[in-house]
Formats: sequence, C-alpha cells, structure tokens
Amino acid sequence: MEFWLARPTYNEDVTASQAPDLGAPYLDFPVLPDVSLRYAAPLSEYTRFGIGGPADLLVETGNPESFAVAIHWLRTRQLPHVVLGGGTNLVVADGGYAGVVLRFTDRAIRQDGHHIHCGAGAELMDLVQFSVDAGLEGIQTLMGIPGWVGAAIYGNAGAYGHSIEEVVERVDFFDGEALRSFTRAECQFRYRESIFKRNKQWTILRATLQLKPGDRDALQKIAADILATRNAKFPPTMRCAGSIFKNQLAAELLPAILAQVPTSVIREGKIPSAWFLEQIGAKGRRIGGIQVAEYHANLIYNDGDATADDLCDMIDQLKADVFARFGITLEEEVQYFGFEPPRGQRPDATNTPVA
Ligand SMILES: Cc1cc2nc3c(=O)[nH]c(=O)nc-3n(C[C@H](O)[C@H](O)[C@H](O)COP(=O)(O)OP(=O)(O)OC[C@H]3O[C@@H](n4cnc5c(N)ncnc54)[C@H](O)[C@@H]3O)c2cc1C
Repeated sequence: MEFWLARPTYNEDVTASQAPDLGAPYLDFPVLPDVSLRYAAPLSEYTRFGIGGPADLLVETGNPESFAVAIHWLRTRQLPHVVLGGGTNLVVADGGYAGVVLRFTDRAIRQDGHHIHCGAGAELMDLVQFSVDAGLEGIQTLMGIPGWVGAAIYGNAGAYGHSIEEVVERVDFFDGEALRSFTRAECQFRYRESIFKRNKQWTILRATLQLKPGDRDALQKIAADILATRNAKFPPTMRCAGSIFKNQLAAELLPAILAQVPTSVIREGKIPSAWFLEQIGAKGRRIGGIQVAEYHANLIYNDGDATADDLCDMIDQLKADVFARFGITLEEEVQYFGFEPPRGQRPDATNTPVA
C-alpha cells in the first residue's frame, strides 16, 4: 500500500524563533494532516524516569498516512529518527536525541466478536480494561503494565506467567517503505523479544488480538488484584522502568551457574535477575539521584535529580559485579535513545531488516 501518494507540502510557518537552536534541515518539515510538532522537546517530560535532554524535534500523529510521509521525508534526507511510546521503558541520554522522535498516537480500540483491533498508541492498561469489560479473556494478567500497545508488542510485554504474544493475531506496521502485516508466528516472539526489536526502523501501527470468552466479574477481580499488588510494588509516582534487567532463562545458563541457584528461585523456567543482584548486594545502592530499591534488587529509580549518566553508571556497576561473581552478563530490558556509542544493543539488534 502506498502511503505518500499526496506530495507533501512544506511548512513555511515554522520560523527560526520557534526552533531556536535548530537551524537545521527540520525547518521545512512537511505540513501534514493531524500532526503536531514540538521543537527542542525535553524528553525528560516524555520518560517515566524523568531523565533525558531534548530531541531536536518531536512529531506526534495518529494518522498513519501522515506518519508514513513523515518517515519517508526523514529517510529521504537521511535524518536520524526513532519512535517513542509512553516512555516507560526508556533511558534517554543527558544530551538528548540529535534527531526526530516520532510518536504514533492512534488510541482507537474496537471489538469485533472475540477480536480486538487496537491502535499502537493506546495505553496497554486501557486495552486490558476494555477486554475485561467486554468479557474477553487473555490479557487480564497484564493489568498494571504501563506504556502503549505498540511498545508492548515490540518488547513482548508480560507478567504473571503470560505475555502479549499469546493473543496477538496480526500486527500492522510501517517498514519505512510500505505498510505490512505479520501473523503472530512472523513476529518471532520470545521472552521480551520480537522481530520488531531487531528491526528498529519498523513502526507498529496497530494490532489485532484474538481472545476467548470469559467471566467478566472473574476477569475484573484478577485484573484489580494484580493492579493493587503492582501499585504496592511500583508506586504510580515512582520514576523508574520496572525491572531494569531481563530475567535469566534457566535453559540458557551453564550447568555450573545453575547449580548455584536454589531451585525454589526458579519460576516458569526463569531465574529472576533480582536473585543474582541480591547476591552482589545491589539492594539500597545509590549513585547520585539513582537508587536501587531496598526491597527489590532489579528495581532502580530516580530519587532526586538523577542524570542518565548516574543511571548508566549504576547499570554498568551492577552488570560488572554480577559478571565478576557469576560470569553472566545481565541484559537490559530497558531501551536507550541518544547514546554514542549505542548502549544495550544485542549483537543481532541492527537496523538492517532481517525479514
Ligand atoms: C512501574 C513499571 C512496571 C513495569 N512492569 C512491566 C512488566 O511487568 N512487564 C513488562 O513486560 N514490562 C514492564 N514494564 C516496562 C514497560 O512498561 C514495557 O516495556 C512497556 O511495553 C513499554 O511501553 P512504552 O510505550 O512506555 O514504551 P517506550 O518506553 O516509549 O519505548 C520502549 C521501546 O519500544 C519502542 N517502540 C515504542 N513504540 C513503538 C512502536 N509503535 N513500534 C515499534 N517500536 C516502538 C521504542 O522505540 C523503544 O525502543 C514496566 C515499567 C514500569 C515503569
């Protein structure tokens, strides 16, 4: 499907005074329907950590055609750009992001029998509540996970033994050239992984979920109980990203390391990274305004005027100590914007399409 049949017009209203430090190529960003622009946008306002410098330009739209034209315009000029959701799993550099940050804000949620069609800009919690209200079972245990649906699919978000992959039927995304759709199998979901994490130039626009009929009151109780538990563990005002590190898959650990882990710690084939972090005395550590929770070794939060440098120093220190003690490298669940050289990249996480 061709998105940019309409030739973009160019924005003559944006003056240098609206974009004081820019003077750069973004001044003739195309005028597009349903698009809002913010120059020198402070990304600390868009991340739950409350950390991070400005982006040259923030572009928000819920209109897929405008989004596609914007991306096409940026790609044609080889201008750096990234996609942001709710900012709840993100560390932005103190220097910000030298380029354009885009948000696809379509929040529409629609029921069609046992299916739900959902825009990538919907809050995951709104989607969960919608499914519960509709008496549809499958994502009730995801209640309380903050952030938007697009990123939940990107990172295969999950909790309480379930993850979003279980209900995904189809994902519509823009690959920078065209709109495409993947089935669940094509999304290549794994624990906190999907094909989208390895193809960061692809943007999820919407998803179709397949659920099954359930008892509305029972689903509501499960969701409400989980939300209460989660709010006690992660107070809604806490400036954090949930768990910083992914858990360890028992099947992937060397037997000599696995032998050190009490079997009571292993759940659903995973060893919480919090266990390894506890062994190195992570709880309560502090660097600048960054604090490791006293009650949860894999929970790091901004307890003051923390900087991204404080946060990265803490992450690096914890990884180094776990490596020195156990010989394993913890992998961040959190994603990074604006770091040079890039941080947290898996060896296979390139911008080169793999499918
Ligand atoms: C208190 C707390 C508790 C949490 N608990 C859990 C939990 O139990 N389970 C869990 O899985 N996660 C948990 N998280 C992490 C976080 O909620 C999820 O990773 C969530 O899916 C991130 O959504 P977001 O919209 O905020 O993404 P962002 O932080 O905005 O972005 C994360 C990544 O997704 C990419 N992305 C965003 N939108 C799109 C899109 N449309 N297309 C392609 N890529 C996109 C971004 O480029 C970025 O790399 C928790 C976070 C917090 C703060």
